[in-house]
Amino acid sequence: MTVVELAKRTGQTIAHLQEILANVGEKVVSEFHPIGIDVAELVATEVGVNVRRLHSSEGSVLEFRPPVVTVMGHVDHGKTSLLDALRQTSVAAKEAGGITQHLGAFVVAMPSGASITFLDTPGHAAFSAMRARGAAVTDIVVLVVAADDGVMPQTLEAMRHAKEANVPIVVAINKCDKPGADPERVKIQLGSEGLPLEEMGGDVQVVQVSALKGTGLDRLEEALLLQAEMMELKARIDGPAQAYVVEARLDRGRGPLATAIVKSGTLVCGQHVVVGAQWGRIRAIRDMAGNVLESARPAMPVEIEGLKGLPMAGDDVTVVGTEERARLLSDGRRKKQEKDRLKMVNEERYPLAEPGAEEDEPEKPQTVELPIVVKADVQGSGQAVKDALKSLNSPQVFVNVVHVGIGPIGQSDVDLAHACGACIVGFNIRTPPSSLSLAADRASVKIIIHRVIYHLLEEMGNLIVERAPGTF
Ligand code: GDP
Repeated sequence: MTVVELAKRTGQTIAHLQEILANVGEKVVSEFHPIGIDVAELVATEVGVNVRRLHSSEGSVLEFRPPVVTVMGHVDHGKTSLLDALRQTSVAAKEAGGITQHLGAFVVAMPSGASITFLDTPGHAAFSAMRARGAAVTDIVVLVVAADDGVMPQTLEAMRHAKEANVPIVVAINKCDKPGADPERVKIQLGSEGLPLEEMGGDVQVVQVSALKGTGLDRLEEALLLQAEMMELKARIDGPAQAYVVEARLDRGRGPLATAIVKSGTLVCGQHVVVGAQWGRIRAIRDMAGNVLESARPAMPVEIEGLKGLPMAGDDVTVVGTEERARLLSDGRRKKQEKDRLKMVNEERYPLAEPGAEEDEPEKPQTVELPIVVKADVQGSGQAVKDALKSLNSPQVFVNVVHVGIGPIGQSDVDLAHACGACIVGFNIRTPPSSLSLAADRASVKIIIHRVIYHLLEEMGNLIVERAPGTF
């Protein structure tokens, strides 16, 4: 891409772009000077334009790749149990004698040699969060419906999510071992909700399973492969990888670790990458069984080591040429994130009044705002803490979670909390070193750390009573 083309696409003047390019150390001799894709992205980010990289597959080899599957459905219908049962049939479980860790994804290999990648976070919250960040990782949704309970509100919500994302569904009617199980009733319900089931002349497959007894799993896996076959899922194998993070965690010895799924291309050990707003050089790639690999191909979930910080689920992994580029690009993205976040915080705090709303609404009681920065060990618990904190909301108290971060509390968290007048809530993380506690004290930032949500809520309740007397 040349500077002229970039100017056209971003709607900026060439002079302005040249100035930014000079700032990031890119020497530009003329407006027809070609610039690399990562530099182009950096500049676009600087001028506030959202970019999406489309890797051209022209001229490259496309090969069949395994499907990536997400499990969704109503609460208590058995999503977690089904994933547990499927995980037991995974490659990692077989190699490790049945013991597996939750790493965000796992692979089930079929006797035929084909394989399926399962995202190990059930529910549509994770699916939506990934989609909101532009990560279209899921190829197929397994819709779990309990045979004794039938179609429920979240079943319909999951159907809606899948439809909006244009992702096909395979139905797993679960709990078929239960005495009150009535799979036929479930099918009729699904049909009348507009899901075109195969046995009613449509193309949505239905499989009856019992996650508890482990029955029907092989038929479910076969149905998923059949669905994948119909979709002719293919990916570019050669060239730089495009991948997405599905989970990230901090390991004491190895530092930040991210489970990523390659969408296309090949991720190679030693490459410089930008992951969301983080960057690093890939020091090691491991498969889900912990085996060290040189590279990772499409649909393979792998754990990557070597990032400087923790990325978020849904972040994209981009390969760049040099360490300097990686650092510049991540800096640019971080600045943009910060800007977006402050904008969002302000909007949440001072929502734009809807026209006419003032006259109709009765006078609101005085609301005390309690801004909070959440830090947690893993993404799942961060989200859980956020949801739990929101349950404390009342007409008198507005618990405003301004940021959810993963990993130990750092100076930047204290700075953010100070700027928003927030307290920091840590869940399942280490107590900060005394120097940081001191800095927090000086900035009047309260730090609360717990390992049990119930205890956390109890202390928050006390804090609310302190700040908003008469609430409870
Ligand atoms: P989720 O909320 O959808 O993740 O549901 P869970 O996997 O936590 O399951 C909810 C409850 O249903 C648990 O008590 C499970 O033991 C139970 N359960 C899940 N699958 C089955 C099944 O196939 N048969 C029976 N009888 N119970 C099941």
